[in-house]
Amino acid sequence: MNMLSVAGRTALVTGASSGLGRFFAKTLAENGARVAIAARRVERLEMLAAEIAEAGGEALPVAMDVTDPASVDEGFDALEAHFGAPADILINNAGLSRDAWSIDMSEEDWSTVVDTNLTSVWRVAKATASRLKEAGKPGAIVNISSITALRPALMLSAYAASKAGVDHLTRVMAVEMARYGVRVNAIAPGYFKTEINDDFLDGEQGQQMMKRVPMRRMGEYHELAGPLLLLVSDAGSYMTGETIVVDGGHSRMSL
Ligand code: NAD
Repeated sequence: MNMLSVAGRTALVTGASSGLGRFFAKTLAENGARVAIAARRVERLEMLAAEIAEAGGEALPVAMDVTDPASVDEGFDALEAHFGAPADILINNAGLSRDAWSIDMSEEDWSTVVDTNLTSVWRVAKATASRLKEAGKPGAIVNISSITALRPALMLSAYAASKAGVDHLTRVMAVEMARYGVRVNAIAPGYFKTEINDDFLDGEQGQQMMKRVPMRRMGEYHELAGPLLLLVSDAGSYMTGETIVVDGGHSRMSL
């Protein structure tokens, strides 16, 4: 028996048009789930859906702006109409950053980050959990956090605070939803090269940072597959309210 299998499951991945979300969607499809891939850039989703189909999987592109409640509702309705069931796996991945010293951060940038990274994570988790409760079905939610929730990172106050909020939202929702069979966990990646950070990681500061990672390198996408599948599959059936850190030891670095 493959304990990590997600065959027969229905997954929703937000922010699936690039980076880690794209990888999570492909990983779930490769392991048997049918996947709704959600983001604002629909043309990118269509290319990803074709790629997944070519590899023998099933993917539905869904236009969704996670900051817009109506768009989220429409996306969930489209998913259920297409698959005939609610998503029983959610990868709450959409996120962004605005980098500035706390004293230089604008109200607008602060709100954009917190609205996207925290309020919208709650909104999409709420939609998933309430639809599962309604259908009387179990499920697994994985929120994508960050090691900046654990250790301070300069110029990332809104981002880091929003991710610390995601970790605690994960704990609270895990306790609330356990009675309905819905597990809620998080993954906190260290540094993986994507559109959110490629400028930084390619620059001098990024190279210096890698020297502070005990494993002396950034993560490779495939190194997130095991933790992801553990949390959504039967292999993690007694895990809820946890954040798994995947960072090459970065957040454990000696002070
Ligand atoms: P990315 O920029 O490639 O991906 C973020 C995705 O979220 C994009 O597809 C973007 O379009 C989408 N998104 C943003 N706002 C949205 C909205 N309002 N509605 C729908 N989609 C929206 O970067 P990534 O690194 O792949 O980021 C994915 C997640 O991983 C984020 O939550 C990020 O904070 C987290 N993360 C990344 C790293 C890393 O090193 N790359 C580390 C820790 C955490």
